[in-house]
Amino acid sequence: MEAFWNDGLQFSCTSCGHCCRHEPGYVFLSQKDLSRLSAHMQMSQEDFTAQHCRVVDLGIAIRLSLVETPENDCFFWNDGCTVYKARPLQCRTYPFWPANLSSRADWDNEARECPGMNQGELRSGREIAKALKMRERQILISPTR
Ligand code: SF4
Ligand code: SF4
Repeated sequence: MEAFWNDGLQFSCTSCGHCCRHEPGYVFLSQKDLSRLSAHMQMSQEDFTAQHCRVVDLGIAIRLSLVETPENDCFFWNDGCTVYKARPLQCRTYPFWPANLSSRADWDNEARECPGMNQGELRSGREIAKALKMRERQILISPTR
């Protein structure tokens, strides 16, 4: 069956910041994300993990996530993403996440939270498929307690 997004979907981020702040959430990291972010910050991976990450027990898995401020903003939000070039894959691939692409209704539902969706640049089906594939292939860090 053809995916509803096969002919592409419109998305251009307006930098409103909604997906980076105000609500508690997780930004899970893979080893590649951690290497890229710590190099960008010119920190060792150990120091970056100690200062900017938290261990999250989801019950079915333990993950490493970026820390948030007391206001529930991503620590790296400051009038824009301060680590944009090195941002994690989770951020890079938004809103082309499996849950948002499972149906047109799910996509449109997410678009109520993200003003960049359904407007702006037409992202091809190929680009969307690539984002899905990258997410599928990534191995998230599973720290041991
Ligand atoms: S909610 Fe959408 S438009 Fe706003 S910053 Fe996030 S991706 Fe960009
Ligand atoms: S790393 Fe950047 S893009 Fe990702 S949630 Fe934090 S501020 Fe937003």
